[in-house]
Order: sequence, then C-alpha cells, then structure tokens
Amino acid sequence: MIYGIDIGGTKIEFVAFDDALEAVERRRLATPAHDYGAFTQALTQLIEEADARFGGKAPVGLGMPGLTDREGRALCANLPGVTGHKVAQDMAQRLGRPVAMLNDTRCFALSEARGGAGEGHRVVFGAILGTGAAGGLVIDGHVEDGHRGLAGEYGHLPLPAALQQTYDLPILTCGCGLPGCFEAYVAGEGLIALARCFGADVADSRALAAAWRAGDRAALATRDAFLDILGASFANIVKLCDPDIIVLGGGLSLIEEVCAGLPAAIAGHLFSGLASPPVVRAKFGDSSGVRGAAILASLLEP
Ligand SMILES: [Zn+2]
Repeated sequence: MIYGIDIGGTKIEFVAFDDALEAVERRRLATPAHDYGAFTQALTQLIEEADARFGGKAPVGLGMPGLTDREGRALCANLPGVTGHKVAQDMAQRLGRPVAMLNDTRCFALSEARGGAGEGHRVVFGAILGTGAAGGLVIDGHVEDGHRGLAGEYGHLPLPAALQQTYDLPILTCGCGLPGCFEAYVAGEGLIALARCFGADVADSRALAAAWRAGDRAALATRDAFLDILGASFANIVKLCDPDIIVLGGGLSLIEEVCAGLPAAIAGHLFSGLASPPVVRAKFGDSSGVRGAAILASLLEP
C-alpha cells in the first residue's frame, strides 16, 4: 500500500493506493488549520488507523498548498497553524517511517506526468486553473521545483503592460499581495473581476461560459481577453521551460473553450512561426493531487 494525503485549507483527503496506484480507500476530515498539535494528531490517527486496517506501515506522501524551505519549514497562508513547522520531519518522527511532502500543484503535475495525460512526454508542465493558478514542471518523471519549492507558480508572474493597455484593465491586486499577477485576471474570482471589466455581470465561470455561448457580447469580449491573457501566461512557461506538453487541471479546465483555444492563444505570444505545445485536460481530475502525493511516497527510499 501507499498513502497519499491532500491537505487543503478546509479538508484533508486521505487515499490508500495499492501498488498499481489504484485507489483502495478514501477518507476525508476537516483540517485543523490553526492548531499544529491537532493537525499532526489528526494525520497520525488517520494513518495509524489505516495501518491497522491494512496490516502494515505504508509510505506516506503529503501534498499541501504553499512552499517548503530547504530546512523543511512550511509556508502556507491557508494553514496558519502549520506555517513555520517542519511537517514532513515531524510526521516521519511520529509515524516511524519516511514521509515526503510537496506543494499540491506540483503533486498534480507529477501525477499527470506519470501515468496521466502527460505520460510518455519528457518535459511536462502540469497547470491547475481553478480558484488559483499554479503548476509544476516535471522532467523525466521528477518534479523540478527549485531551491524553495517555488518553481511552477505561473499564476504569479505579472500581466504584461501590452495586454493591460490593449484591454484597458485596472491593476488588480492578487491574493498573494503582489499587484497585477495573472491569477488576479484568469483564475477564480479574478476571472469574474475580468468579466466585470467588460461589463459582464456573472456569478461564476460556468455562468460566464453559458453567457458567451448564448452570444452575449460582454461575455464574448471577456472570453477573448481571458484566452489572450491566459495564452500570454502560458507562453511564459513555454519560453522558460519549453515543455513537450501542458496538462491542465482545475475547475476552469472543464470549460471546453479553454483547452481548445489555448494553443492558438499561446502561439500568439510566442515568436512568429513557433507553435504551442499541445494543451490537454488532466486525466485524473480532482484526484490527481492526492495520486501525485502517493507517487511521491512511492519514490521514497525505504
Ligand atoms: Zn500573485
């Protein structure tokens, strides 16, 4: 068995996988986001109870938002009680086995590169586009996340001045605190804010897509700007990493026009004559992050 655990700001998802990476059991519980003692206790109980059911100590992989520094200290805005703690080391000590930890979007990229929609490609960029915009670079089946685990944060590169002027956009402040990040225009509330700039009053991305499909002019203008801005964002990834394929996950990847429209939108921000790498939808959807955490655990030395 291998245990993958996806830790979010509100819930923890535990999945036990067999050696063929088929999910055998799923459990969910609320995240004790403000109390580190309760947080480690909840994880320990979850894992030790699974050990008892499966009759052995399985390796553990944790996927979590935020970053981990070189000493293993977590930095995570959604989990204030966890920030500053060496989660993987502490859990390894409590559980008496190796524990691996990685940013959750890097876990997603790892999962899609190994057996997912990016299988068979050497350089895979896995990108989540949902409430946020972040991803991970996988080369030869291994995540390349850099010195502080930061590499892959494509949503926090800045919107180019040319696009800001073309669409006469305000400089929106991102959830990360920086002004003008891509995420503030293309993901979650950002996309709704973008729609507002074009006079489209919609509650969510689904309503926005329905409106542009119905021919609503403001929604159509939003769609065109959204794809253009997203194309510029992904073109940055291509110019920096030149992946063989981009795998897209997260809620907005389910909108048909996004995967379909992205290659042309990306090519529009590359050098003349250069085509975009293919953009495909994730194979494992919302389960990819926890699957990636399990793959991470499977790579641990026993
Ligand atoms: Zn940002």
